[in-house]
Amino acid sequence: MISFWKAFALWLAVVRAAAFLAPPQTNLVTAADATVRMDAAAAAPSPIPIPAPSPASFLAFGDADLRKQVESDPASLGSLSVGSPGGGVLINGIVFPSDPKWTLANADGNFATAETIGFVRRAIENVHILFPDTPPLTIGDISNPQGGQLRRHAAHQVGRDVDLGYFYKPGKGVWYTPGTAANLDLPRNWALVRSLLLLTDVDTILLDNRIQKALYDYALSIGEDKAWLGHIFQFILGWKNAPIVHIPLHRTHYHVRFFNRTAQELGRRAYPFLIELKKIPPPVFTIPHYVRAGETLGHLAARYGSSVRVIEQTNGLRGNLIRAGQTLRIPLKGAAAPPAAALVIPARPLAPRTPAILAAVEWPTPLSVYGDDLARLARSPLPIRF
Ligand SMILES: [Zn+2]
Repeated sequence: MISFWKAFALWLAVVRAAAFLAPPQTNLVTAADATVRMDAAAAAPSPIPIPAPSPASFLAFGDADLRKQVESDPASLGSLSVGSPGGGVLINGIVFPSDPKWTLANADGNFATAETIGFVRRAIENVHILFPDTPPLTIGDISNPQGGQLRRHAAHQVGRDVDLGYFYKPGKGVWYTPGTAANLDLPRNWALVRSLLLLTDVDTILLDNRIQKALYDYALSIGEDKAWLGHIFQFILGWKNAPIVHIPLHRTHYHVRFFNRTAQELGRRAYPFLIELKKIPPPVFTIPHYVRAGETLGHLAARYGSSVRVIEQTNGLRGNLIRAGQTLRIPLKGAAAPPAAALVIPARPLAPRTPAILAAVEWPTPLSVYGDDLARLARSPLPIRF
């Protein structure tokens, strides 16, 4: 047990130092799966290599073999995302690497899964390929090294949420300047959003309606398909599966949440073994609770198996008065509950055509994905999703 913790601490130190010191390759994984590598083939070489995602080959293991792997070499699993963004943990988190194409806004809270890091890099690099001389994009909060609650965020607990700044017109804005149609560099912002949607496994982009409208108007003006845009931006049709969703307080940055094919699924399956074999301590994590009229801290403590004092401390409350409409963080001890069912990632929203201004890179299209499989195309929920 002790020797494991020594080894684990050493491994973590190596991985984190590796991310800063630019070695030729980190020792994060032993068998990278080429199919989940997110490195853009056409992208300029990055000064710091992005760690490889968790080996997808472990997903083929049965439970007994996976348990053995957890027992003998937990580090080999790579970064794992367990639980939900509002209540979960990050295992083997990796510090977001440095790169001239982006700036990290904060000194801490910069840990993610390898897949998340690869996605963010892929999208930013695509903007650089389309628009040379693009200034660095600011990256804000991501996750704590072991996940769990990050500052006052409701999410950001599992290494799959990343706050991204906007591209502004020269001299018109810095990190957290509220975006407007006048100060935003709309071509670069739209290229970023389109790259996230089409080139990564994006789950949701939380974004104020006013920014959505500016991007929508711009996208329409350069010749994007109107019906497709209607299903991308929730504010147009109110489509519940739209990936770009309004949320208050998101006029200053994009909050981007990714699916992680391997880190989530491997995390879901390996987590019980990591706990059982004492490879990680049972974490304390928090979930949000929206206070309704008549509820007291005593109710919440009883409902969640917590205590009034612990809830007070977690939320920095000075007394035990709470009010309806308030959202409190409820700390829960024990396992982050991984979802029971295997992860299903919805189809990426394929754009039926590419405006000329964006034609310098290859985008997935209905033709490149379906070929002449029109039957499959017809079965898709939208003509442009697969
Ligand atoms: Zn956020």
